[in-house]
Amino acid sequence: MNHLGFERKPVKIGSFDFTCCEGCQLQLANRESSLPDFLALIDVRNFREISSERHDDYDIALIEGSITRSDEIERLKAIRRQAKVLVAFGTCACFGGVNSQKNRLPEKEAEQVVYDGRPVETMPSTRIADIVRVDFSIPGCPVSKDEVERIVVSLVNRSMPNLPKYPVCVECKQRLNTCLFDLGEICLGPITRAGCDAVCPSGKTACLGCRGPAEEINFPAFMELVREHGLSPVDLTEKLGFYNAFEHIHRTDET
Ligand code: SF4
Ligand code: SF4
Ligand code: SF4
Repeated sequence: MNHLGFERKPVKIGSFDFTCCEGCQLQLANRESSLPDFLALIDVRNFREISSERHDDYDIALIEGSITRSDEIERLKAIRRQAKVLVAFGTCACFGGVNSQKNRLPEKEAEQVVYDGRPVETMPSTRIADIVRVDFSIPGCPVSKDEVERIVVSLVNRSMPNLPKYPVCVECKQRLNTCLFDLGEICLGPITRAGCDAVCPSGKTACLGCRGPAEEINFPAFMELVREHGLSPVDLTEKLGFYNAFEHIHRTDET
């Protein structure tokens, strides 16, 4: 028995999707080169992208997606009661994700725009941690396969994993990229948690902050950078809200 409360190997894993595109689960399932080794380490009890097995005895629950319906709340609470370790898996689960964009529209307007006026049962997109206790969060839209495998292996082998505390800019500089601020764009790299190897700015696309705020950031300095470059506060607000990952930081800075 390890300190997380489950037998060392194989650890029983369940993966469950809520409101999302299932891209994060697919990231894990698609990795053919390392999938056999990964599967040898775990006992898949419930993971519909990988197996048709359905069992309710799992130690680690990976939760993908945000909560947008009342029945999802009950389902999530039932999974929490069963799991020894519950992991918020992907940006939707960690922050509400792209689904949260509807939170900024009046409910009726969202219904009209998205569902052509047909009534649907929906509530504001809510992150997993607002409903149940979360033991560990893995951000990313989608998650990084390497990072998820490393974290699951850490959990299986008794250690609590860590995410990088520093921002995406560190990885971007390591890749010798031209900074997108110098090309007149707002990039959220200075305030976003690293771990994606700066994949977006390396492709000349500004970071939209899918991994959420880094721990070692200077938000006022970032705001100064935006102002110095004469970039639009409206564009900044839109970018900060894209994944709903900077709600707290943004409000704090404005007040
Ligand atoms: S975080 Fe992104 S890739 Fe993952 S489920 Fe949500 S929308 Fe899909
Ligand atoms: S492009 Fe973005 S991530 Fe890269 S150094 Fe500039 S601000 Fe940082
Ligand atoms: S560069 Fe930013 S938006 Fe792109 S994957 Fe990394 S954290 Fe997400």
